[in-house]
Amino acid sequence: MIMDEDAHALHDDATGKLERQLERSQLFTHTALGEGFAKIAETSSFLYGLLDLLLAKGMIHEAELETAVARVREQMQAGGELAGPGTAIRPDSGATTSGMVAVDCNSRMHVCKAVCCKLNFALSVPEIESGKVKWDLGRPYFIRHEADGYCTHLQQSCGGCSVYKDRPLICRTYSCAHDGRIWKNFEAMELNTEWIAANLPPGVEERRIGTVM
Ligand code: SF4
Ligand code: SF4
Repeated sequence: MIMDEDAHALHDDATGKLERQLERSQLFTHTALGEGFAKIAETSSFLYGLLDLLLAKGMIHEAELETAVARVREQMQAGGELAGPGTAIRPDSGATTSGMVAVDCNSRMHVCKAVCCKLNFALSVPEIESGKVKWDLGRPYFIRHEADGYCTHLQQSCGGCSVYKDRPLICRTYSCAHDGRIWKNFEAMELNTEWIAANLPPGVEERRIGTVM
């Protein structure tokens, strides 16, 4: 099949994006595994050293220790506190648009450049399961961002959202009108360039875990 130049460019762009996601997925897996093993090794060394000391001094007895360990393990399992791979899911907050200050994005886009679509947030279970919104393979289950820091669903040519009808609840209920991170002065359209430069890409590489929206 012969592709024209535009088709080649589109293909290269899609392949590049996929490659970036695969790299991030591997990075996430290796980082999570590495951090997990390092923590386990450190905790084990500390714990065994402490237990040896306490047993040697006769301050605790083996049978009591086994009972206490079993009890804590059960409590942690019940509370879902056992160490996981560092994934994040946003609980359904039940947020609505009532009382939300509507913003005329079109009249502000030349200033804000849709910077709100650089903010990071985890998706909820229904949003993940819908399959409509892409999550970052390198940072499950956060919304997917491209290398320039923008949400993958932002159509940069027009500032529109490619999943507008299915966009996450957090996007539906967000208004920048009172968001001091975005605007120093909302009415005067004065951006908070310091916060943006200090907290959002490309000035700042995304943190692996943590919501900012
Ligand atoms: S919500 Fe605010 S920051 Fe986002 S595109 Fe609209 S005007 Fe810009
Ligand atoms: S899903 Fe749409 S509205 Fe939400 S951050 Fe992405 S581009 Fe912006």
